[in-house]
Amino acid sequence: MKKTPKSTLDNTAPDPIALAIHGGAGNYDKSDQNAQVKHLRQVALYGRSMLRSGAKALDVAEELAVMLEDAGLYVAGKGTGPNSAGEYELDACIMDGTSRNIGAVCALKGFKNPVKVARAVMERTPHVMLAGRGAETFAALQNCTPVEKPLEYYIIRGVTRLPEDLDTGTIGVVARDHKGHLAAATSTGGLLGKMAGRVGDSPLPGAGCWADGRVAVSCTGQGEYFIKAATAADISARMAYGGAALEDAAKAALADMKAQGGYGGVIALAKTGPPTTPYTSKGMRRAWFVGDGDLVVDV
Ligand code: ASP
Repeated sequence: MKKTPKSTLDNTAPDPIALAIHGGAGNYDKSDQNAQVKHLRQVALYGRSMLRSGAKALDVAEELAVMLEDAGLYVAGKGTGPNSAGEYELDACIMDGTSRNIGAVCALKGFKNPVKVARAVMERTPHVMLAGRGAETFAALQNCTPVEKPLEYYIIRGVTRLPEDLDTGTIGVVARDHKGHLAAATSTGGLLGKMAGRVGDSPLPGAGCWADGRVAVSCTGQGEYFIKAATAADISARMAYGGAALEDAAKAALADMKAQGGYGGVIALAKTGPPTTPYTSKGMRRAWFVGDGDLVVDV
C-alpha cells in the first residue's frame, strides 16, 4: 500500500489549540506576584477547558478578558487606577482573525467590562470604535453592567505617584481554537495618573491588539511607544512580507518599539506552533499552553 506523504497529513490535521494570556509588563518581581500567578493559572486552565470543548477563539478571548478585568489584580477593569482628574477611563479592543472584525472602546467611563462593550461594538454597530460619551450611551443601550459607585468598585483610589512611576498592568488574551481560528483581546485602565482623555495603544487595532489569518497579538507596556511602532500589526507584516517566523517577528517588532524609547511586552500566536511572549521590561505576568503541552505561568 502506498504511504500517504507527510505533507498531506500535515495539511489535513487540525492545528492544536493554543492560548496565551498576560496581566501586564512592568517592573515586577515574581516574589510579589503570588496572587497574580495563581489567578493567571486559573484563567488559563479555564481557557484550556473552553478550547478543549470546542469553544471559538473569539469567545475564549472575550471570556478570559472578562475574568482578568474582574480580578482587580491588574490595571484593567476593577484594577483600573484613576486618571489625573480622579476619573476611571477604560480602553479595550477585541478582534476576530478570520473575519477581521474588530470592536473597540476608548475613554469609557462607568462600565464594568469594557471588552464586552467592545464586542458589542463589533457585532451590533457598523463601526470599529466608539469613544467617551457615545460609547457609554451605546453600552447602556446594550445592557452592559454599569459601575454605579466607582469609588467603591475600583481597587486603586487617588493618585499620589510621580509620572515616572506610572504603573502598567493591561490584560490580554490570544487564542487559537480547534479550527485554527485566531482571536485577540486587550483591555486596560491605561497608565495610572494619565491625563483625562488620554488613549493608549490597547484599544487601537494594529498598535496594542491585532488578529488576522496569520497571527493574534496583544501588547502591554508604555502605550505611546507601541502606537509609534504599530507593534501588533508590525508582527503580522514581518511574517507576511519578510517571511519571519513568529518569534523573530515579535522580537523584532518589540525591538523597534524599544528603539522609540518605550518598554513592554507582547503575547503572540500564529496558525501553528506555540505562543511567544517576549518583553523588554523587568517582567511580564503571563501564562500559556499549546495542544496537550504543560500550562506555563511566569512573571
Ligand atoms: N499599554 C497600556 C497603555 O499604555 C498600559 C499597559 O500595558 O499596562 O495604556
